[in-house]
Amino acid sequence: MKGVRLVFLGPPGAGKGTQARELAAEWGVPQIATGDMLREAASAGTALGRQAKTYMDRGALVPDDVIIGLIAERLAQPDAKRGFILDGFPRTIPQAEALDRLLKDLGRPLDRVVFLDVSEPELLRRLTGRRSCPVCQATYHLVSAPPRQADVCDRCGNALIQRVDDREETVRKRLAVYADQTAPLLDYYRNQRLLASISGEGDPDTVRTGIRRTATDRVGP
Ligand code: AMP
Repeated sequence: MKGVRLVFLGPPGAGKGTQARELAAEWGVPQIATGDMLREAASAGTALGRQAKTYMDRGALVPDDVIIGLIAERLAQPDAKRGFILDGFPRTIPQAEALDRLLKDLGRPLDRVVFLDVSEPELLRRLTGRRSCPVCQATYHLVSAPPRQADVCDRCGNALIQRVDDREETVRKRLAVYADQTAPLLDYYRNQRLLASISGEGDPDTVRTGIRRTATDRVGP
């Protein structure tokens, strides 16, 4: 879909990353995932990465001004002119307001905000069983989506890890942060008539079909 500008919203573990990666490739637009950008900065050991890691490892949000600066730079890059899928941003009301201003200045407002709805027990199951590739960012699940060879990435052959923030205690913290800081965005985007809600609990192909339909339909009355 040419030129589509979407936000994928949802709690950690809802499947935003998996769906965004597939659909961005399908539609020829960049997937802009702030979590991936921060993890890359952390493993490269940049000042931003080192600062971000102290928040990420304990399941807290990185400060708004840092994230907003990162996104402003990213959206200014030429590939984002074709459209984008934002995955993991915005996560707070100030971030959403900053995004509105940025896109207004660029004359490229959002088309749709897709909310992936998944229950808390299912999120806990998914996140604590998740294993990730630190190199290509592919994700697996010990039970429901294991790699072909245990602990090895199917796509690039590197050793899989459990993200520090996917340990149970930190997962609970991230879900609480989501409920407190990110869930208010549902009303924010509902009021702008941009929100489309779909169940994120089906198998990934069914969820993807739902997102495709939603992204091309008009929202609301
Ligand atoms: P994610 O991979 O999207 O779950 O993000 C992992 C971590 O990166 C989060 O728990 C936050 O610490 C940080 N992070 C990612 N995106 C944002 C954002 N938009 N605002 C603040 N912190 C973020």
